[in-house]
Amino acid sequence: MVDALRKSGITNERVLAAMREIPRHAFVEPGIASRAYEDTPLPIGHGQTISSPTIVGLMTQRLLEKGTPAKVLEVGTGCGYQAAVLSKLVKEVYTLERIAPLMDKARRHLRDLRIYNVRFKHVDGHNGYPEGAPWDGILCAATAASVPEALKAQLAVGGRLVIPVGTEEQHLVVVDRTPTGFVEQKGEPVRFVPLLPGLQ
Ligand code: SAH
Repeated sequence: MVDALRKSGITNERVLAAMREIPRHAFVEPGIASRAYEDTPLPIGHGQTISSPTIVGLMTQRLLEKGTPAKVLEVGTGCGYQAAVLSKLVKEVYTLERIAPLMDKARRHLRDLRIYNVRFKHVDGHNGYPEGAPWDGILCAATAASVPEALKAQLAVGGRLVIPVGTEEQHLVVVDRTPTGFVEQKGEPVRFVPLLPGLQ
């Protein structure tokens, strides 16, 4: 898997090492575990998917590009794989999920791997998690029509937000908070599930 990641442009050695360390097969149902190291998204129930390894690598690499954030917020826990990768790279991760059974399962996956620096919150991630702000990094794993203002507002100065944006056509957008405002860059075309309102 790591060789394939390198070929797709994931060159950050720390990101590659973290992805080598986290067993992706442990995050999907046993019936599809044999496909866990293919570069493809896989179903995790409730109409959601675990992102492909390349997408996880790319988003993590973008998040760490300007240095290592200490405290990171993830919106969209899903099965917890991205959070587990982040846990190996930064000091503290908070992850938000709107579907309670998915969050419970993700919590179990991380406990089984003895990962203890990730905190789980069952909330609507549109509003971020102001109780833990400011965040040095925010990674959103579901697509929004535009960058949610609440997420920008919760970024620390020097912090970075990585989020897929768009409905039909989606792109990975990176937002940096500078001392004077926000700098936005539109990146690679991507395909994510939508950021939905309300709790389940
Ligand atoms: N990072 C995940 C990918 C999950 S897919 C992984 O590694 O598996 C996106 C997730 O975002 C889904 O689980 C979906 O339920 C969640 N999601 C969608 N809208 C949300 C919202 N408003 N708040 C929190 N989570 C949301």
